Amino acid sequence: MVSVSVLASGSRGNSTVVQSSSTRILVDAGLSCRETCRRMKATGDDPHSLSAIVITHEHSDHVHGLAVLARKLNIPVYMTGPTHHAWARAVRDATGEKPELPKLEFFSSGRKFQVGDIDVTPFTIPHDAVDPVGFTFRAEGIRIGIATDLGYIPASVCDHLRGCDVLVLESNHDLEMLRVGPYPWSVKQRVMSRVGHLSNAALAQFLAGEYDGGASYIVLAHLSEQNNHPEVARREAENALSERRSLLYNQVMLASQEQAMHPIRL
Ligand SMILES: [Zn+2]
Ligand SMILES: [Zn+2]
Repeated sequence: MVSVSVLASGSRGNSTVVQSSSTRILVDAGLSCRETCRRMKATGDDPHSLSAIVITHEHSDHVHGLAVLARKLNIPVYMTGPTHHAWARAVRDATGEKPELPKLEFFSSGRKFQVGDIDVTPFTIPHDAVDPVGFTFRAEGIRIGIATDLGYIPASVCDHLRGCDVLVLESNHDLEMLRVGPYPWSVKQRVMSRVGHLSNAALAQFLAGEYDGGASYIVLAHLSEQNNHPEVARREAENALSERRSLLYNQVMLASQEQAMHPIRL
């Protein structure tokens, strides 16, 4: 059996567990070590059974708990060279010490690698980090795609997201809520830019168009707490899917910042 559990999603921390019968991968480590362990236990998983951590990019909401978690569990961390460099420099600037990871493995965007029996394919996404990636995971004939923190969905990302049984996709903000909301203009511009975050409308456009319709579950992720509302995001995604009648069986779910989502099992 393959399962996906989004432990947390949003600008205060991102972490997801992707597992096969024999391998368990943590995607990003944006929560503290303690909170990651607490939420894994809440979904019935033992943190000590994690096989590896894979990292999408160096922003703190994706790496906040990384060093402590990797050391405590003594498991390998997979990241790209540039992301590792940027992360290590940020930690050194903040603490004055060079961070240590027990085992470090580098991957390159576009090159598939394997963790246990899970095939991992990282692909480049447009975001304002040094070398940001999304991932697809394949195990036991099931394919899972994760793409958050991207300003728009380029054709290359559409290609990677084809044939997925589960998609975890960013639905960051409602454009109107962002426009009238409390952020300073410079931050609004960053969020809306081609290397910022994906709006509900941009995701809806993908779901109504390029999306192949093959996923049983679509998880809306990285929702802004200031500039979005879960029901607004859900309605927009469901409307986009309902325009394509054949896709009514696609179940839309919401990932939360506050608590782990009920695991999706396939
Ligand atoms: Zn993020
Ligand atoms: Zn980011």
